[in-house]
Amino acid sequence: MKIDKNISIKPYNTFGIDCLASYFCELSSLTDLQELIASDLFKKEKHLILGRGSNVLFTKDFEGIVIHNSIKGIVIDAEEEDYIHLRVNSGELWHDLVMYCVRHQWGGVENLSLIPGTVGAAPIQNIGAYGVEVKDVIEKVEVIDLHNGHTRVLSKEECKFGYRESVFKHEREKNFFISSVTLTLTKKNHRFTTSYGALNSTLNQMNHGVQTLQAISEAVIKIRTEKLPDHQAMGNAGSFFKNPEISESLFQKIKEQYPSIPFYPAANQQVKVPAGWLIEQCGWKGKRIGDAGVHAHQALVLINYGHASGEEIFSLSKKISVSVKEKFSITLTPEVNIF
Ligand SMILES: Cc1cc2nc3c(=O)[nH]c(=O)nc-3n(C[C@H](O)[C@H](O)[C@H](O)COP(=O)(O)OP(=O)(O)OC[C@H]3O[C@@H](n4cnc5c(N)ncnc54)[C@H](O)[C@@H]3O)c2cc1C
Repeated sequence: MKIDKNISIKPYNTFGIDCLASYFCELSSLTDLQELIASDLFKKEKHLILGRGSNVLFTKDFEGIVIHNSIKGIVIDAEEEDYIHLRVNSGELWHDLVMYCVRHQWGGVENLSLIPGTVGAAPIQNIGAYGVEVKDVIEKVEVIDLHNGHTRVLSKEECKFGYRESVFKHEREKNFFISSVTLTLTKKNHRFTTSYGALNSTLNQMNHGVQTLQAISEAVIKIRTEKLPDHQAMGNAGSFFKNPEISESLFQKIKEQYPSIPFYPAANQQVKVPAGWLIEQCGWKGKRIGDAGVHAHQALVLINYGHASGEEIFSLSKKISVSVKEKFSITLTPEVNIF
């Protein structure tokens, strides 16, 4: 295992922020990881695990070891008549896994097509799209405790999944390296979820509404390609903020002034409001401060138009939060991990 010094992490984050990592280490096996944990450097320096950097914003150089995860491999853990249990190493790319499952006619992840990043990062914020979250198919998650190198397996319940939430975001578990994720997928009698957003109408348009894993995946890819900026052309990390969940009374107050406010019911009698709509109402859609901007078609996506620093993107995000707070009394929480 090679450890490089003073490496630019620009190629390793989808915002394309040019920051330095004091040390950079590429992991291709768990043996590499155990070797790293046992090293003096690891004991001395702080560390950061990086998948494909599609949910991070670097606001400064990282003074420590960036651990880039490329541990690959997929195995069938068990198979029954109706289900397949797939253990996937964390450095596999999420979208490649989805394509692999669709090709094999294994159902459950087709709505999550084209989400960038690694399999290991997927449980951390419980990735979701088009009415499906990864928790719906997760059976268990295997982790290595970076304090001592010990392996642990967390059941789905122990992962405490919520909306863009899991136990892995909390202090102690932040020190876990997710090494593999086991998914339970359907082999037949697939449960299609097609009622969300433009999915149904796109399916109708594309193949007269016929529902197959392949058709749903293709429809999701079409919608996402048309709607979301390609991070290779325009640096971004997808949705910058979570959709806030607010009280029914605050929602009713806002609705009096904005009768067309979009909303979804949430748990605990809360109401979920699209953060993109709130940001748009504050006039930020398409705005740009230097090379940091708000996407012209998706106000929830912040963009690096070329040479923005992480600090500039972060400062724009703070200005947006302040105006949403002033106008709607709603606090926006970043979905992106800020370092
Ligand atoms: C264009 C675009 C569209 C997107 N669309 C969606 C979407 O529809 N839905 C959605 O939920 N997300 C979406 N995202 C966000 C992002 O793709 C996901 O959050 C993804 O899971 C991040 O994976 P990653 O490997 O890039 O993680 P990174 O950005 O590298 O890391 C994210 C966090 O996880 C930690 N981490 C990463 N790997 C591990 C590991 N193995 N063990 C422990 N900690 C780890 C990192 O330290 C960091 O804190 C989108 C992003 C982009 C750029």
